[in-house]
Amino acid sequence: MFFAGFAVAAAFINKATNEVLSETDPLAGVDAHAKSSNSAAHETARRRTFAIISHPDAGKTTLTEKLLLYGGAIHLAGSVKGRRAQRHATSDWMTLEQERGISVTSSVMQFEYDGYVVNLLDTPGHGDFSEDTYRTLIAADSAVMLLDNRRGVEERTRQLFAVCKRRRTPIFTFVNKCDRAGEDPLKLIGDVEADLEIDCHAITWPIFREDRFAGVFDRRRQRVHLFAADEHHGSRQATVSEGSLDDALVREALGTEALERLEHDIALLDAAGHPFDHAAVIAGTQTPVFFGSALTNFGVEPFLHEFLDLAPSPTSRNSTTGPIQPDDKDFSGFVFKIQANMDARHRDRIAFMRVVSGRFEAAMDAVHTRTGQTIRLSSPQTFMARERTAVTEAWPGDVIGLFDRGALRIGDTLSTRSDIVFDGIPRFAPEHFARVVLADPMRRKQMDAGLRQLTEEGAAQVFFTSPSAVAGPVPIVGAVGLLQFDVLLHRLEHEYGAPCRLERISGGNPRWVKGPPAEIARVGNQRGCTLLFDAREQPLLLFEDVWSLRYTLERETSLQCFEVAP
Ligand code: GDP
Repeated sequence: MFFAGFAVAAAFINKATNEVLSETDPLAGVDAHAKSSNSAAHETARRRTFAIISHPDAGKTTLTEKLLLYGGAIHLAGSVKGRRAQRHATSDWMTLEQERGISVTSSVMQFEYDGYVVNLLDTPGHGDFSEDTYRTLIAADSAVMLLDNRRGVEERTRQLFAVCKRRRTPIFTFVNKCDRAGEDPLKLIGDVEADLEIDCHAITWPIFREDRFAGVFDRRRQRVHLFAADEHHGSRQATVSEGSLDDALVREALGTEALERLEHDIALLDAAGHPFDHAAVIAGTQTPVFFGSALTNFGVEPFLHEFLDLAPSPTSRNSTTGPIQPDDKDFSGFVFKIQANMDARHRDRIAFMRVVSGRFEAAMDAVHTRTGQTIRLSSPQTFMARERTAVTEAWPGDVIGLFDRGALRIGDTLSTRSDIVFDGIPRFAPEHFARVVLADPMRRKQMDAGLRQLTEEGAAQVFFTSPSAVAGPVPIVGAVGLLQFDVLLHRLEHEYGAPCRLERISGGNPRWVKGPPAEIARVGNQRGCTLLFDAREQPLLLFEDVWSLRYTLERETSLQCFEVAP
């Protein structure tokens, strides 16, 4: 009975799907002239540049793959390999690099979907979690926060969310794994609001039929999407049927119980939930919430539609000359990540640049505004899964990889205008610290040169036990993720000829401090506390545990403490 109803509903729906598809117009608001020409306004309006933030295992790899599947960038899910298999291989960076090939640096995945150009920035997770993960968020215009329906907000989600919130980045929430029993959706939403202090507005709502995930209801479009289980195990797009809640066929397909439950939930959400507020979404104070299952593809497409419709097109970036808008005709961009030696045979570095304004063309000349020199931006690349592709032009929101011989640093501006310097990329507090011990004391110069270069690249942060970094004291390196240490040792030995080992320092919880130097020195000598100085000779304290941190913060009122370098 049910299946018969379902089949008819499916036939009815295809027409409806077409109607809905045509509602989504990335170019709404762009005038007719811009629409018809291949103009900068047209190209900017159709771009969406975002990153996925999540705790390990929430399903980021799976969702990424499914977005690529729907974007037509891959034809069968399961073809983006490598990451999952390599999850534990954090100790051997070279092996990691060889086995993953370019996938370590498939930092940007670009695909077209429904008229949009989607730039999905990969945020390394798991063992390869590093400062790069945070820095990538600076290049994104919005973020998708992916949650496991049993676990809700987890530690890593919280850390990444905090970076987005500080920058007022719009955040879209996707509750994943709804194909298996999880936390009650209403409770999940309540938990997100309480934990992250952000308003939630559910755009899609899960439909359960006999306790099985059967579809989602799109509250914005008032459409029911029902999914049919198939034999492809999520490797192909899900079979969907769609219609309005009033539709007799849809109602029949849903069944009385599922229908009553859905109508009850929707009434509750309408009455008690936060009303949808697009301005609040753009300001980062309200997050639209979606439910789905990346594994079975259920809910992925409705999410993609709504997300692309609601997410901002490329936004402006602040600079010394004020905000630079994407429609500024002069080309400008900033480097947010540098990946060294991806290919051991070529020893090249790739600097990832986010275009902020104007049109980028291959082999164009641009001013490297930190040094004032004009450089030719040759051999630009974009990245699609495992392949590099040559780029001939790029627009605001795009990310390109530039070959670099050591001239570029994280945060550098490249522009056809010499007077633009974008606001620097903040440093993020390391979570792990270690002393760098030279195997051969005669190699001190090489080690210093290596550490200086690696710090500039943003591969690690270097600290010293006294303010004068030049003489004597053993340097201490700090990293956000442990893989950064492996990469550091490897590069010190192979690129700078300075084999070293690391002695881990217990504790972390760094706080940069301001206050009378004598007071800082006194506190730094206390048990459970270590005083360090960063490369700019700013003092910071490391605490062995959160208790000594809290104790000190409470007692030492003459000191001001900061979680990131002030
Ligand atoms: P990542 O660590 O966030 O990249 O997560 P993965 O995509 O590697 O997924 C972690 C595990 O969760 C894998 O075993 C996936 O098959 C599983 N997973 C991902 N999405 C779903 C989903 O929608 N439903 C279920 N049941 N499992 C999922």
